[in-house]
Amino acid sequence: MALIVQKFGGSSVADAESIQRVARRIVETHEAGNEVVVVVSAMGDSTDELLDLASECTASPAPRELDMLLTAGERISMALLAMTIKGMDVDAFSFTGSQAGMITTPDHGSAKIVDVTPGRVREALDKGAVAIVAGFQGFSRDSRDITTLGRGGSDTTAVALAAALNADVCEIYTDVDGVFTTDPRMVPLARKIDSITAEEMLELAASGAKVLHLRAVEYARRHGVVLHVRSSFTGEEGTIVYDPAKGHPKGVQVEESVITGIAAEKSEAKITVGGVPDVPGKAAQIFEVVAKTDANIDIIVQNISEEGRTDISFTVPVTDGERVLAALEAEREALGFGRLKMDDQIAKIAVVGAGMRTSTGVSAQLFRALYDAGINIEMISTSEIRISVVTRADRMEEAVRVLHTAFGLDAEDEATVYAGTGR
Ligand code: ADP
Ligand code: ASP
Ligand code: MG
Repeated sequence: MALIVQKFGGSSVADAESIQRVARRIVETHEAGNEVVVVVSAMGDSTDELLDLASECTASPAPRELDMLLTAGERISMALLAMTIKGMDVDAFSFTGSQAGMITTPDHGSAKIVDVTPGRVREALDKGAVAIVAGFQGFSRDSRDITTLGRGGSDTTAVALAAALNADVCEIYTDVDGVFTTDPRMVPLARKIDSITAEEMLELAASGAKVLHLRAVEYARRHGVVLHVRSSFTGEEGTIVYDPAKGHPKGVQVEESVITGIAAEKSEAKITVGGVPDVPGKAAQIFEVVAKTDANIDIIVQNISEEGRTDISFTVPVTDGERVLAALEAEREALGFGRLKMDDQIAKIAVVGAGMRTSTGVSAQLFRALYDAGINIEMISTSEIRISVVTRADRMEEAVRVLHTAFGLDAEDEATVYAGTGR
């Protein structure tokens, strides 16, 4: 008997018909003799709708109340799914994150899992029932409040439960056939990847490929959980996310590609601090001020200095931009800079591949392809297996398409997106 964790995203449970389709799949897995733990997201776009509703009520909703509100979304789908499965004559129990033992930090909207105590889930399985757990939510022992794990966090709930229950596999069901070379909504000729290393998936998720929550990939890697991303709409095989050091779960020999995938996002802003005195210690002072705002800095570029002054640009999430500007402005005199400006019309594009470690000329190929398309590069950053560039936001889709073709990733046929609005 295997223990299988199955996670169904919002587009897979968007309406009653979808819930019945998902329930049939769960019942089949259960009847094949497996123990099944299901993690479910809120129906369709309901998390976004709740957020819209909150902002119609008040300009800045209290984070604690926002978490109370958003967790209701997953509570609706878990109960509907459990009653549908029971209606198919298979026993099922739904559990909130707190009942399932998802213990988190108290940070509303971005809580981290610190412990998982799935006693009630285990009991349900021991009774021969299917356990359905609300994704994306937890409970803080410190604040005694309900928390959420950040947008897309149901993936992380599934991985954390899989690790705690020592599951044989963690299946992430979504509205596309698996992980693609890039977002198939943006590039229809994106190609499905059969197997991808956790390290590559981590870079893609961190760079905006929202098919998997970044924390879920990190958690899976740390705890040795194999992820299987697949469509809830078809029986296609999907994508295996694995750690090559532990071997491929199916014993498949995977050939390393130079470029595995491309991710892109518009969620960052570029802040430029101009006319900074070019003396030792200035960068430290500036970034100490930024660090106090808790904003996550990504790319940093310092220009060559002229007449003893230089410009420093860096990117932060757009949602942190105003806070960082205000913090720097407050220290203008002490820092001694001249200009300060924010540009939120930027996009970041990341090209990822484990084979980059051993290949040369990848950057040249990337820069040439963008130059040929007349797309200007504003910032560059690299890791061992990733090259990221910043471009104008309105050129992002075109840049990704151009690079997808230049690196030979285009498929023969167009990918299918089965549902969802991509919101
Ligand atoms: P779910 O509701 O199932 O969690 P998400 O909307 O969070 O689904 O994630 C699935 C979506 O991720 C796809 O519909 C697709 O548009 C997007 N996506 C972005 N990058 C990729 C990629 N590299 N491969 C597959 N899908 C991707
Ligand atoms: N419902 C939450 C969201 O939309 C969590 C999830 O779907 O993973 O972000
Ligand atoms: Mg998701």
